[in-house]
Amino acid sequence: MPHATRRAALRATLRETGLDALLVTNLLNVRYLTGFTGSNGAVLVAAESDDRSVFCTDGRYTEQSAQQVPDLERVIDRPCDVVLARWAVKDGAGRVGFESGHVTVDGLDLLVEAVGGGELVRAPGVVEGLRVVKDDAEVEALRMACAAADRALAGLIEHGGLRVGRTEKEIARELENRMLDHGAAGPSFDSIVAAGAHSAVPHHRPTDAVVRAGDFVKLDFGALVDGYHSDMTRTLVVGQAADWQRDLYELVAAAQAAGRAVLAPGTPIAEVDRASREVIEEAGYGAQFPHGLGHGVGLEIHEAPALSKAGAGTLLPGMAVTVEPGVYLAGKGGVRIEDTLVVRQGAPELLTLTTKELVVV
Ligand code: ZN
Ligand code: ZN
Repeated sequence: MPHATRRAALRATLRETGLDALLVTNLLNVRYLTGFTGSNGAVLVAAESDDRSVFCTDGRYTEQSAQQVPDLERVIDRPCDVVLARWAVKDGAGRVGFESGHVTVDGLDLLVEAVGGGELVRAPGVVEGLRVVKDDAEVEALRMACAAADRALAGLIEHGGLRVGRTEKEIARELENRMLDHGAAGPSFDSIVAAGAHSAVPHHRPTDAVVRAGDFVKLDFGALVDGYHSDMTRTLVVGQAADWQRDLYELVAAAQAAGRAVLAPGTPIAEVDRASREVIEEAGYGAQFPHGLGHGVGLEIHEAPALSKAGAGTLLPGMAVTVEPGVYLAGKGGVRIEDTLVVRQGAPELLTLTTKELVVV
């Protein structure tokens, strides 16, 4: 059971930091640690033993939680944070950590009251710290999410979905429907479909603008599978590619390859950004690459680690990240190429398998 293994890793961290228990209220972290997918729940993870950990949800989820969280003591009550904080103190916990980044000012007052004489300790980002390295179950979900996106794009191209006269919105809708057909629970974020000059807007939202002959069409999209997000960008040309489009595409493809080439355990995170950015800067387009190189993906579409100039730390095996340089020429067009990959000993595992050769349809 991956959830029990994850809780064991968390308990080891708690013992190192001198906490008797951690009150986990961020629903994504609750899901990560227990498998629970409902809209209200919390878990108290005891440092000493999983037998003393407790899961809480409300009456709507009695049956669902019995199925999804069979291996923990469960209480049905609300509000779960207060219920579990009281539980911790009653169970003898002296130092109770809480996810201070996910508590409101008003909520904090209630927690302080609930622990009474016990000590409430700010413990931000503890579970997020574990989540940066993906286990096998997580990588498998990411693989399926990336495969759904690959298949959706292949189907879109094969069936003539990218053609002159079609609107960005129509293309986005078809792409999203195709991901559903391939097993996605939904898109992993609002799809970006950007035609012509719109492709120079990094996070353009699809409009009623139509694709014209010779346009770049930039597609940035992903699928959601088992709560895990895929993320891929491809930029294609509809009709015939002009020389400037081929040149720009080649430049971004080279920068993307340079970023992937240094994606290995032990590489400083800032170095990954630098390796890719350098290619674009040397070509004179540094100012036209206005965002970080990539980001972690998992239960959130954007999570740690951020691959940017300011990124701290080094890459670890099992991190799932994107590499997505772009060059955007305002009023003209832009190219971004993005993959989702898993850092491995040796070469990274590429999860988004769609070709990175320039596709002209
Ligand atoms: Zn993306
Ligand atoms: Zn991304």
